[in-house]
Amino acid sequence: MLESKTLRTITLEEHFATEDYLAGAGRRLTEPSRPGQAELIGRLRDLGERRIAEMDAAGIDVQVLSLTAPGTEQLDRADAIALARQANQTLAEATRRYPDRLAGFAALPTAAPDEAAEELEQAVLAYGFKGAVINGHVQGRYLDDPFFWPVLERAESLGVPIYLHPTLPPRPVIEAYYSGNFPQEVSAIFAMAGWGWHIETALHVLRLILGGAFDRYPDLQIIVGHLGETLPFMLPRLDHTLPEQLTKLKRPIGAYLRENVNYTFSGFNYLPPYLDLMLEVGVERILFSADYPFASMAEARGFLERLPVSPADRERIAHGNAERLLRM
Ligand code: MN
Repeated sequence: MLESKTLRTITLEEHFATEDYLAGAGRRLTEPSRPGQAELIGRLRDLGERRIAEMDAAGIDVQVLSLTAPGTEQLDRADAIALARQANQTLAEATRRYPDRLAGFAALPTAAPDEAAEELEQAVLAYGFKGAVINGHVQGRYLDDPFFWPVLERAESLGVPIYLHPTLPPRPVIEAYYSGNFPQEVSAIFAMAGWGWHIETALHVLRLILGGAFDRYPDLQIIVGHLGETLPFMLPRLDHTLPEQLTKLKRPIGAYLRENVNYTFSGFNYLPPYLDLMLEVGVERILFSADYPFASMAEARGFLERLPVSPADRERIAHGNAERLLRM
């Protein structure tokens, strides 16, 4: 237990929202009204004492914050540019107030890739942010499309990772896959936290690999949550069925998953998929996150403490890998 008292913890998928965002692009978060929702919204909006007190109570030293999904990715260019700028300024103020406790991942106007690359550079160089979050597809377009590659190029040259966060699948996918002979409320969760968010994100990573993004930008680093969004489970199958002779890529699929992708927990406090992730990609690519305020920091911390790993590996997962990847 002495170990746990001194364990430094950095969490990477932690969210906030601004007043304007909750009234605009993020209004889905406030409707329809559900039990506990006012509390959730209060926590998203707080970038001050309440958040820090909850981090203290749960044993979390640093949160790397991002604007909560759906973010800018479903907006048109002008709206996306305005939202990203405003969200990043708000977050920069918070990280200046609590430099030892809060850090930032930038929101980007992904629909406007050149502007997004500039926003990322500004966020990293002027605000000290550690990378960016992109919330999945951009109005149905995925990052394997070279249209978006100015963003990938800038992330690589700045040496910062992109956290690929889940979002709802595109509307035609929801209609084809997630609507069926079951109630509407089941369909809604099936398309989101029950399945769709995760499969969608895994698919997005595979599209990036198959589209050659990492052959073009070999030092680009991506982060995904939820213990790898099912990718570790599929890794041997991907290597077996999609060899380089077929894909014409420089490396096997598994090599990209082990060398260009990093993985966090985001509320998946489940041992069997953790073990699979550890066996497939190794401890040096596993980083800590809670997905606050959607999931519990205390439960995430408890899961971290119980992982069947050595003290040195627990330190890597809790903070060491993040300090290396995010240069903290
Ligand atoms: Mn999240």
